[in-house]
Amino acid sequence: MPEAPALLTVSGLEAWYGESHILHGVDFTVGRGELVTLLGRNGAGKTTTLKSIMGMTAKRRGSVVFDGAETIGLTSDRIARAGIALCPEERGIFASLDVEENLLLPPRVAPGGLTIAQIYELFPNLYERRKSPGTKLSGGEQQMLAIGRILHTGAKLLMLDEPTEGLAPVIIEQIGLTIRRLKEAGFTILMVEQNFRWASALADRFYVMEHGRVIDHFVASDLEANMEKLHRYLGV
Ligand code: ATP
Repeated sequence: MPEAPALLTVSGLEAWYGESHILHGVDFTVGRGELVTLLGRNGAGKTTTLKSIMGMTAKRRGSVVFDGAETIGLTSDRIARAGIALCPEERGIFASLDVEENLLLPPRVAPGGLTIAQIYELFPNLYERRKSPGTKLSGGEQQMLAIGRILHTGAKLLMLDEPTEGLAPVIIEQIGLTIRRLKEAGFTILMVEQNFRWASALADRFYVMEHGRVIDHFVASDLEANMEKLHRYLGV
């Protein structure tokens, strides 16, 4: 259980893509200001959990309470306006738009979104590249842009799907520093990450998923003592 009062409480969450029943009752919480990571093998249902919280699966059932209010019956745009944002694995950068146009694209959905100047302060590389089209950005720059873009919306809960996917070690380190700064700035973060070593230096708590359910839970200080078990779960 989180030490801070929960900002997000997911209970008995089930989700479907068409006829495929993917999530079978997912339970976990994310405390205000916490960084929680979902771990699990490929296909365990981690991405589907994030999409489902965002209302992006064909059908979902159960309960997703955010900031004290039930969101399970809401559409994706209402969920975004409640203050949840998803940074997808594929990043979703518009190739024909430049960095600044990409940053300005999503609407301000809640008060307190970062200004473009504040986003550039967080990601100086993006300022350097502000007139470059999406197609000309490196993987790391695209990831920074994808994170910067959701900070503009005013979301309080940031959901990051595999932020280090396909990036070079030096860039992964930079993304780690940024995520740490976001946490210090008070954002609550729910992350899916395969790079367990990297995530273990950042997250407060971890949930392990298997076959569309949460099967175990660790706080950061328990990790070392449970390494063997974790390696078994993750098959690494
Ligand atoms: P990965 O690291 O591979 O993304 P994951 O834990 O995030 O793993 P999900 O992407 O949530 O897993 O996938 C869970 C299951 O849902 C898998 O069996 C996958 O094949 C299936 N699935 C994912 N997307 C769809 C879709 N759009 N339509 C049908 N089935 C899907």
